[in-house]
Amino acid sequence: AGTVAAPAPSAAAALPYQDPALPVADRVTDLLSRMSVDDKVGQMVQAERAKVSPAQLTQYRLGSVLSGGGSAPSPNTPAGWADMYDAYQRGALATPLQIPMIYGIDAVHGNNNVYGSTIFPHNIGLGATRDPGLVERIGRATADEVTGAGLDWTFAPCVCVARDDRWGRTYESFGEDPALVSAMTSVIAGLQDGPAPVLATAKHYLGDGGTTGGVDQGNTALSEAELRAIHLPPFRAAIERGAGSVMISFSSWNGLKLHAHKYLITDVLKGELGFTGFTVSDWAAVDQLDGRLGFTQAEVVTAVNAGLDMLMVPEDWQTFLGYLRAAVSAGQIPMSRIDDANRRILTKKFELGLFEKPYADRSYAATVGSAAHRALAREAVRESQVLLKNRGNVLPLAKTGGKIFVAGKSADDIGNQSGGWTLSWQGASGNTVPGTTILQGIRAAAGSGTTVTYSRDGSGVDGTYRAAVAVIGETPYAEGEGDRPGGFGLDSADQAVLTRLRAAGVPVIVVLVSGRPLDIAGQIDGWDALLAAWLPGSEGAGVADVLFGDYTPTGRLPVTWPASASQEPVNTGDGKTGLFAYGYGLSYADQPADTAAPSVPGTPVASAVTATGASLSWTASTDTGGSGLDGYDVYRDGTLIASTTGTGYAVSGLTAATRYVFTVVARDKAGNRSAPSAALTVTTPAGPGDGAGCRVGWSTNDWSTGFTGTVTVTNTGSAAL
Ligand code: BGC
Repeated sequence: AGTVAAPAPSAAAALPYQDPALPVADRVTDLLSRMSVDDKVGQMVQAERAKVSPAQLTQYRLGSVLSGGGSAPSPNTPAGWADMYDAYQRGALATPLQIPMIYGIDAVHGNNNVYGSTIFPHNIGLGATRDPGLVERIGRATADEVTGAGLDWTFAPCVCVARDDRWGRTYESFGEDPALVSAMTSVIAGLQDGPAPVLATAKHYLGDGGTTGGVDQGNTALSEAELRAIHLPPFRAAIERGAGSVMISFSSWNGLKLHAHKYLITDVLKGELGFTGFTVSDWAAVDQLDGRLGFTQAEVVTAVNAGLDMLMVPEDWQTFLGYLRAAVSAGQIPMSRIDDANRRILTKKFELGLFEKPYADRSYAATVGSAAHRALAREAVRESQVLLKNRGNVLPLAKTGGKIFVAGKSADDIGNQSGGWTLSWQGASGNTVPGTTILQGIRAAAGSGTTVTYSRDGSGVDGTYRAAVAVIGETPYAEGEGDRPGGFGLDSADQAVLTRLRAAGVPVIVVLVSGRPLDIAGQIDGWDALLAAWLPGSEGAGVADVLFGDYTPTGRLPVTWPASASQEPVNTGDGKTGLFAYGYGLSYADQPADTAAPSVPGTPVASAVTATGASLSWTASTDTGGSGLDGYDVYRDGTLIASTTGTGYAVSGLTAATRYVFTVVARDKAGNRSAPSAALTVTTPAGPGDGAGCRVGWSTNDWSTGFTGTVTVTNTGSAAL
């Protein structure tokens, strides 16, 4: 809730742990020396808000409260959340040592439990962007919105490596490749390192995405070498980014539940990987250890001795607390283990500034659902779209004249496009959150010259339309409710829509709204275009940006698209041939040109260059404003094509005899953006041939935030690009 800005030492600080001028480690040591056993066991327990009162926080010394998916105060507004937070915090601070509580929530695609928040694409779409800089900015925006609701800890990111699309949590994964998922841990920097820091949680440790058959909470049957190669790298990356907490997985590794796995938690995570934050259990997961309903003291002992620091109980916490207290008294859990858990938890509370600023910070409330965050989400939606088919260049749709038909259950349904973990645990169809549906986005993009007709079931379509867009796919689900052991095809309503559209004899464009690849083999032949939209969230206009060519698609598959559900598991390198390979994704420029090159005047960069690629580079900018340079955004024809921290970018897929305009914008860490650099206009030569390359440079000193720099663009002229 508070900020980490170092507070001035307080003369009134009565005790060493209350003195912000002392090092955190010393403050923790002092505080620990003053804590009773009841204080210490209480710190380790997290209860659900619906099951605990502020007075009970005082009485039982509980260290944390959470909201499970959809568990919200009334009113569900940023102020409503902040008021609730403060009530619990008053309860925590009424204890003798005045130790603040920390409040956890699943802000997994924006602060999705709070009404009015910006809903970003789910992770699978973010994986398709291949843009860690964008994902970091989303983390920053999410932290702002979480802070705006008064909260300080999110159970995100899920860094699972999804290896079987039948799994109901596939959409919570950035993809099937450990390196891709590792790169996307950049979100942790966004969450934790900005001006409104929120504690991040890398979850679920370990192997949650590798269970046999894609069964949620199932068993991951792998050798240790395989487990380490596929599932461990994202946790290593998350720890290098400073992730404050790690959530342990419900699943098992070769038959042993992770919540009992001392080797993986204590030896590997805390020892080998050097994790210094705290571990948190998953929802009542300790209760599952003996396979019987209800907590037992033996389960509590096993989990805490395995290395669990905080226990998400969350409902039967009084029973749990009793067992934990009894186990300590009986010597079944050594006091050194209890002290270690407390040291880890308290260190994060001190680092977050909770002792100095324990109450909700209401100054960020205006960021919740702000125009800037919605623009960022729209940018993410654009970048996450993966164009899989585009027969005869039916896309992009022209904006001039004629009629377009739109149909399908997800065309005008913001709940469907947001998926699970949106206001409720499972999510829901319908008008659940504020934002823009894909249909609204299409209407806005089409402009006044084009008539857009919509019918959900496709009735009314005929041959007078230029094209028909079917927005179809999955309806919301979360966790095991989304497991599809029997396959994942289109439902009968979607099939009926497609049948109607195809019967009209017009080009059919399918926009698939889904949390995973669907089984479409055989059917795709009848479609002219296919755009994988994933679960884009509240800004449906980003999908329309791609359909109408306001953004040229750059997304690439974060998972192998299976030829059929029965082919699962299918992953790159396993010798199976999917329908589309991992990394596949078309761009409009990839299509054979069907129109003459535009006769716009431009600057020929060289003769005899095939111009299939261009390497842009610029000199490093300095932020004379002081917060430091964050990175650069590269634009082609006014459309963002990349965000990078380096000073160069290789543009691929340029077509011969075409005019392109490139600009670069610098960003600083405070979120300021420079004015765009002077534009570089390139008219690519007609080719073929290959030249020695050329350089075109320009310089600028008009950065609005005090940047200075020279930008140079180099066209290498290499056809291999
Ligand atoms: C999920 C976690 C989530 C927790 C709290 C569990 O069911 O597995 O990912 O963080 O609930 O809502």
